[in-house]
Amino acid sequence: MTSYGKGQPLAEACDRFVTWLDGRVVAAGRGDGLERLEVAPSGTFWLGRLACEDEVRKGTGDDRSERLDPCAIGVRFRPEGPAPWSATVTVRARAWVKDPKDGPDPERRWWRSGLVEEKVPLVVDAAGGTFGAKQLEAAFAAVGAPGLCAEVRVEIEDWHRSPELVVQLVNTSPHKAPGLTDSHIYETQLEVAGLGTVPFELEALPDSFRYDRRVPAYGINVGVEVVAPGVFRTTDTVGVQTFRPEYWNSPRPEPDLSFGRLAADPIPVLTDLVDALDEYDQTHWSTVALDERHLADGWTDAMRAEADRSAADVFDELARLRAGLELVRTRPEIRRSFQLMNEAIGLSAKGRGYRTWRAFQVGFLLSAIRFLAEPAEEADHVDTVWFATGGGKTETYLGLLLTTAFFDRLTGKRTGVTAWSRFPLRLLSLQQTQRFADALAGAELVRRQQDDLRRSAPFSLGFLVGQAGTPNKIVPKPENDEIGPDSPGMPEKYRVLLHCPFCRDERLSMKFDRKRWKLEHHCTNQACPWQRGPLPVYVVDQEVFRFLPTVVVGTLDKAASIGLQQAMRGLIGPPQKLCSEEWHGFTYSTRSKSPNGCLVPDCQGTLKALPMAAERFGPSLRLQDELHLLRDSLGAVDSHYESLLDHLQDKLCGTRAKIVASSATLTGYDHQVRILYRRKGRVFPQPGPRAGESFWTAPVTAKLRRFVAVAPRGVTLEHVSDRTLDALQRCVRELLNDPKTVCAEAGIDPGHAEKLLSIYGTDVVYGSTLYDVEAAGRSLGSNNTVDGINVEQLTGQTDFDEVRNILERLEKPEDAFEDRIHVIAASSMLSHGVDVDRLNTMVMLGLPLTTAEFIQTTARVGRRYPGLVYVLHKIGRERDAQTFRHFDKYVSQGDRFVDAIPITRRSRRVLALTMPGVVAARILMLVEPASKQRLSTPVKLRQYARDAGLTPADEAASVAAVLGFDGPEDSLHQQQIVEWVQEWFADLEDPASKARFIGQIGSPSPMTSLRDVEAQAPIHD
Ligand SMILES: [Zn+2]
Ligand SMILES: [Zn+2]
Repeated sequence: MTSYGKGQPLAEACDRFVTWLDGRVVAAGRGDGLERLEVAPSGTFWLGRLACEDEVRKGTGDDRSERLDPCAIGVRFRPEGPAPWSATVTVRARAWVKDPKDGPDPERRWWRSGLVEEKVPLVVDAAGGTFGAKQLEAAFAAVGAPGLCAEVRVEIEDWHRSPELVVQLVNTSPHKAPGLTDSHIYETQLEVAGLGTVPFELEALPDSFRYDRRVPAYGINVGVEVVAPGVFRTTDTVGVQTFRPEYWNSPRPEPDLSFGRLAADPIPVLTDLVDALDEYDQTHWSTVALDERHLADGWTDAMRAEADRSAADVFDELARLRAGLELVRTRPEIRRSFQLMNEAIGLSAKGRGYRTWRAFQVGFLLSAIRFLAEPAEEADHVDTVWFATGGGKTETYLGLLLTTAFFDRLTGKRTGVTAWSRFPLRLLSLQQTQRFADALAGAELVRRQQDDLRRSAPFSLGFLVGQAGTPNKIVPKPENDEIGPDSPGMPEKYRVLLHCPFCRDERLSMKFDRKRWKLEHHCTNQACPWQRGPLPVYVVDQEVFRFLPTVVVGTLDKAASIGLQQAMRGLIGPPQKLCSEEWHGFTYSTRSKSPNGCLVPDCQGTLKALPMAAERFGPSLRLQDELHLLRDSLGAVDSHYESLLDHLQDKLCGTRAKIVASSATLTGYDHQVRILYRRKGRVFPQPGPRAGESFWTAPVTAKLRRFVAVAPRGVTLEHVSDRTLDALQRCVRELLNDPKTVCAEAGIDPGHAEKLLSIYGTDVVYGSTLYDVEAAGRSLGSNNTVDGINVEQLTGQTDFDEVRNILERLEKPEDAFEDRIHVIAASSMLSHGVDVDRLNTMVMLGLPLTTAEFIQTTARVGRRYPGLVYVLHKIGRERDAQTFRHFDKYVSQGDRFVDAIPITRRSRRVLALTMPGVVAARILMLVEPASKQRLSTPVKLRQYARDAGLTPADEAASVAAVLGFDGPEDSLHQQQIVEWVQEWFADLEDPASKARFIGQIGSPSPMTSLRDVEAQAPIHD
């Protein structure tokens, strides 16, 4: 029993509790501490067991099946000197024996033997050998399991001109022998001592000056720990602890980067920040500094060249920050925007426990801010925030977004969209949306206080997602799946906000206002500082077009609407006019249902001129969250639509939006950005001089996550997942029912028990596929030893209001433990933007397909308290088996394992899908408005095309230019475009054509979602 002092910090209690939990789970996997069992141990335990060699040989005998139920564990290492080699091997194991029917405990006939612990001395030469067989057989007999036998087997492998020793414990028991009730041996462990070794260099990773690639020894079917120099001991699981970073790593004192200080007087502290970075860069990246490391660490020429390149990037970054600082100092509108943004973020963060930026966040703002002064030049670069998840990425780009919103207002953009922010998920995270709303509410309160901004439009938020989330429009007489004011669930079903962004009150009411034809969120708190009726949040597509909110957040695939919906024009350029009726908003091209262009049904209003110059309507920013997910076919399709958005904005406004992104990975980043956006990539921050360390971040001793790799043996992955969750739930229930005993056992101050129950009471089981997730949820319900485990699912299939409900329950758990959610079965839905401090234990069903997904998903646990993650390897799969071998490097150098992103824009199959949208968008957004008439039907368009002299050749050339297929190497693509556009014109000219709308001309029709390509084969050029 460990003692604890009074006033034990919570962090320490958490750490000890995690250690205790892990100990209990491993014990459940191995069978430690049990005396008797009712069921066969071979169907129960998944760790420490070894099948007999006989049985494994009789199976298919391939690597895969041997990994699934191995007959040996071992250690591979490289001896220091030449043969012969001598060492001492310690073997530990137990047996399970079944009593006859009339034994002492007929209900529980299986009993666990005493410990076999034998020291086996060995001396081998290049031929290897076997040792200890007789000794071990006798030892098993002595603990009551006669017939079991095992041996230490040593093989010498000569791979890379230096010999490798493979020392294994092999279960050599006969499969079936008289009196032998189970041929497995259990709780096995091997320890090798007394031999000098040299480390391996991890071959899965390239040489780099930043990383240590040395691996002292490899385990075979197990992990290996170095207990003392030259002493290797096998472990059943591989545990890797990560530590919480600190966001300041300079000998200088950290400048006061609080919102209040930066709002009041930013220059002195910003100068301190840049000066500290300057000093750090000189210390670590100057030629002198690199020369020293080159010598000390024995760099190769290639490593030095890599270091020199990195140094150049680092000094570029420093220069950008200096230039940004200079702009804040010398340009009054930029300084004021920056200050107002800080004031706004300060307001929105009030009561949420933080009042200051992390240094890297301010660093990013300084490095990106130049685009306000030189928008055209800076738009050539896509700036990406690259930072460990949970580091405050979203807040970072919210800072940039508000600075831009204020700057737009100060320079005459009185209304309209400042930023369109897109997320790659089908269902946008409500928590993420709320953070945008909160920041904008802060900005709105600040705006109202500025004399010169008071008369501009309120800052507002638009929510633009697929029909599954909120309606595209609300119609007076709904047909089919259309939504009307009285449709089922209206209006409560479409509540998007979790709380009022102005006052945090959760008592929001939804209302549909028939006069204004608006779906509204209302705050019912009398003391709310908003006080202006409905909250400035628009969740219906058509309302987004009518009011053009300051920031539009939405799903990636909504960009497809640009080829379908003429009112999307407001997101890339000017609408047509403003309706004279109050609350009707902007108008667009006329249609039969909107004869004056107003989107409110039966509007009788007249049209007024736009309130500002048309070219100011184009957005200043496009934000892309989780850039790394734009890959394969989705990336290919999006690359064409990005080009289309650029083209339309250029034609309508003569401007180009700045693109800012966030990404979990750096690998192949340049290439990805070039393909997606046809711009240059730039990353912030530059990686530091050593892995895990830079000016912006340094690891400290506070625990972040404990990763535990598990290679299940002999039973199914589902069994292990169920049993692991079962053990975790049993542990927290013990804590609930008997806090004194548990706390004493774990060394915890019982005063923390209740808090720990909340922090570790909900487990996540994560599957990469919906199938895995659903199976996990189902089997847990039926397969556990603990009663009353409440399981909820969080996947892309989970209903919108259900997600909101689950998030609420997680954030504010029920008073009684038995009413709470105990297990969340989740898919990748969870990996993006779900931030719940109470999720701290996770069971992963197999490694996700990409390292990025692994990093991102596991970052959902341990956000505030130490986390515990079980990674159950699908050990039959080659990739999982390999990762298990170097699991600690996989975790500690994860970013280096992130695979390059496969993406191309030259797929002709994708071109066939995107071309129709490009042509339709050009008609809707450019041709029709320029024609000053309604071209909504083929008849009218045909006439106009003839009158205006539109030709297939011209249109095909335009489409090729939009998509960047106008070079000599693109002749195949050009031909494909020409052929399709010719058919389109032929269809337009065909008097027998059945097309009633523009989108029905030609085939296929414009895409309705960028995801239409998904789940198809990978894309090639
Ligand atoms: Zn309120
Ligand atoms: Zn109107």
